[in-house]
Amino acid sequence: MAPSNPITHIVLFKYRSNISWTDFQTHFTTFQSLQQRCRHPDTGKPYMLSMRMGQNNSWERFSKGMTHGFVLEFASQAHLDYYLQHDPVHAEFSRSAKPLTEDSVVVDITDGVLFGPKPKMPVGVGGVWTGSCHCRDVGWEVRVPEGEEVKHTVCHCDTCKKLGGGPYSCNFIVPKDNFIVPKDNFIVPKECITITRGNPREYAYQGASGKDVHCFFCTRCTSHIYHHQDAMPEKIIVRTLLLDGGNELEAGGEIFAEGALDWAQDLRKALSQSWPVKA
Ligand SMILES: [Zn+2]
Ligand SMILES: [Zn+2]
Repeated sequence: MAPSNPITHIVLFKYRSNISWTDFQTHFTTFQSLQQRCRHPDTGKPYMLSMRMGQNNSWERFSKGMTHGFVLEFASQAHLDYYLQHDPVHAEFSRSAKPLTEDSVVVDITDGVLFGPKPKMPVGVGGVWTGSCHCRDVGWEVRVPEGEEVKHTVCHCDTCKKLGGGPYSCNFIVPKDNFIVPKDNFIVPKECITITRGNPREYAYQGASGKDVHCFFCTRCTSHIYHHQDAMPEKIIVRTLLLDGGNELEAGGEIFAEGALDWAQDLRKALSQSWPVKA
């Protein structure tokens, strides 16, 4: 039986001009194999309905530099969301494809649907998150590795209470140099956070480890944007409630739990119900 509402996932890539033929071939063969290798966890079977791919051969000059097109079909938005957000085979492929591509365009269509609301972005998905401070002078982007789920890590330490003036802070720890970009024919790691507007200032203090913690904040409204600890040089800690969509994230863990205020009982209850405590 034909699915009632298949989604066509259209991807256009602009490949970097200096990639090797071998890399290119491996990339395409791997991409093609996804139709068989991506399997739905409920059925254990392939769930991509169809896949077409090829070089852009249009003589019209409207390609915007995109060199290849990929048209994938899924039975439902749920299947497409699984592919984009959770499928480990696809996530692995995406990671390997990143260094080869310079730019991309993605459009999803449902045949005949011309108006109406867009499907909601799944909560907590990896990718680029945007954030802004209270006065909006400072804006930033945080790149979360694909396949990682963004959740609040609640911190009950005394510093967070003092800095934020509340019972705890909400954070997410991101690998610092987690994505790579082409530069001068090399691939270089890039820091996961990019300030897109404004100039945050740094406030450094000595953390519990004895090493410095570097906090970055808006000089006008004082919103705490992110911090970086010398004790954890590979990580950046972003304040999750300043991210767009941060209010919808779930609580995923807590640190310095011994510092939790007694009256924050409802929070403790919610935490113990919503997730198993991580070891
Ligand atoms: Zn501000
Ligand atoms: Zn803290």
